[in-house]
Amino acid sequence: MGRNNIDGLIGKKINKLTLLRESEIRLHQKTKRYGVFLCDCGNETIQTIFDWTNGGSKSCGCLKKLNGKKTHGLSSTGDYKSYMGIKGRCLNKSHGDYKNYGAKGVTLCEKWLTFEGFVSDMGLRADTGLKDPTIERIDVTGNYEKSNCIWIERSLQAKNKR
Ligand SMILES: [Zn+2]
Repeated sequence: MGRNNIDGLIGKKINKLTLLRESEIRLHQKTKRYGVFLCDCGNETIQTIFDWTNGGSKSCGCLKKLNGKKTHGLSSTGDYKSYMGIKGRCLNKSHGDYKNYGAKGVTLCEKWLTFEGFVSDMGLRADTGLKDPTIERIDVTGNYEKSNCIWIERSLQAKNKR
């Protein structure tokens, strides 16, 4: 599939997903190309162009909640959960851990306000080669941003906690 083919798909809608643009995400599997989609429910989601065109991904994951069918979107993965955890701790005052993060001035960089920006900086969990990767800040008083974050094995992070 060439670049021009993807450009021709911008704005096209299949099932509940409308292609907004090609994602910046580049994975080591170069055959996979990702798009940023707007779902009918209002969520933005990242899916492979292939899964979208062949009907493998039909929504951001909201359909899955409705009818229990399996979807292939990144929004239902551990990557998205990690990301939403970071965003919640830093920005959501009603998040249980906000008092230890956002309230103490820990925030995330502007690029990470979108899931796409986060993945574009940090890559995907599956590509780390770790068994159960989680995002760790190198300087624990620093912010969530590319220069201060790495994926580490979750068991190691647990040891580092006071
Ligand atoms: Zn949706």
